[in-house]
Amino acid sequence: MLVIHMERGCKSLEVARVCGFLERKGCSLRVVGSFESPYIVSDGDEEVGNLILSLQGVKAVTPTKKPFPLASRETFPDDNVFNITEEIKIGGGDRLIMAGPCSVESRSQIIETAKGVKRSGANVLRGGAFKPRTNPYSFQGLGSEGIALMVEAKKETGLPIVTEIMSPEDLEWLEPHVDILQIGSRNMMNFSLLKAVGRTRKPVLLKRGMMATVDEWLQAAEYILAGGNHRVILCERGIRSFDKITRNTLDLSVVPLIKSLSHLPIIVDPSHGTGRKELIKPMSMAAIAAGADGLMIEVHPRPHEALSDGAQSLTLEEFQDLMGSVNKLCNALNEEVKTPCGLRIAM
Ligand code: PEP
Ligand code: MN
Repeated sequence: MLVIHMERGCKSLEVARVCGFLERKGCSLRVVGSFESPYIVSDGDEEVGNLILSLQGVKAVTPTKKPFPLASRETFPDDNVFNITEEIKIGGGDRLIMAGPCSVESRSQIIETAKGVKRSGANVLRGGAFKPRTNPYSFQGLGSEGIALMVEAKKETGLPIVTEIMSPEDLEWLEPHVDILQIGSRNMMNFSLLKAVGRTRKPVLLKRGMMATVDEWLQAAEYILAGGNHRVILCERGIRSFDKITRNTLDLSVVPLIKSLSHLPIIVDPSHGTGRKELIKPMSMAAIAAGADGLMIEVHPRPHEALSDGAQSLTLEEFQDLMGSVNKLCNALNEEVKTPCGLRIAM
């Protein structure tokens, strides 16, 4: 594979010439136009790449054997740091702490949770409205009403919101309301959905499929990048293993692995990763120590009343305690982390 990096501000004629050249060589090509300067991804070999280097408007050509050329660090050596809102970024030392209930259940539940997690230092509110439940008779989420309640919670607290999208048909109406579109584990290989979110410019949180290899996960991310959306955040949420003592096996080794293979930010979800609330704190600390760019934590004011995933949800007090420890760890690591209030904690 080749990634052809065009000069910033290059002319469309120059892009067309490179495309014409590739076509004459019998190579495939795809122009990805949303990065600051366009890229052309092609199956040409290194020889073709060397010839292309002499064409006008071409800045560089990166050959790669990886099946995820746009997600690969070979192609883009620098961390992909981008804004979620004007104030909040991910990557480059800024960590995103997403917290909230598994499912939005009521106005009072989501507002109480939003206020509580904000007080403790979360910078994104999570909450599912379209729930991908294994059993059709389990609570399926409040749907569009749940989104409306998330939007209310956002207005009330100023926290940006992340929620799962399950169907490409929902994208058009959902997109303006949410700050991050979540692709759940069960949909990591829903290619129509990946293509749809690839066409938007909203950040996408791509959870790892419960049976997905790292290669498959990065190729799923590639679908979104190839659509022109470079704002992709990966989320490790555990994979299936033989041992049922935990809900999933949280694969923390994937954090440094992804960091070496890809420029994309990665966060960790120890709630779904373990299914057990007592494991959330140690796994959160381990995730941060391993280099994760953030966490996703399920929090419910009364977990025993939760309509989904109560066993892996922290109370507001437990979340506050977690954040205290996470911040202390960050201090010990001697880096910097941003809290929602804009406070910078030396880490
Ligand atoms: C969720 O975060 O709401 C969720 C359903 O998680 P996952 O897709 O990882 O199972
Ligand atoms: Mn859940």
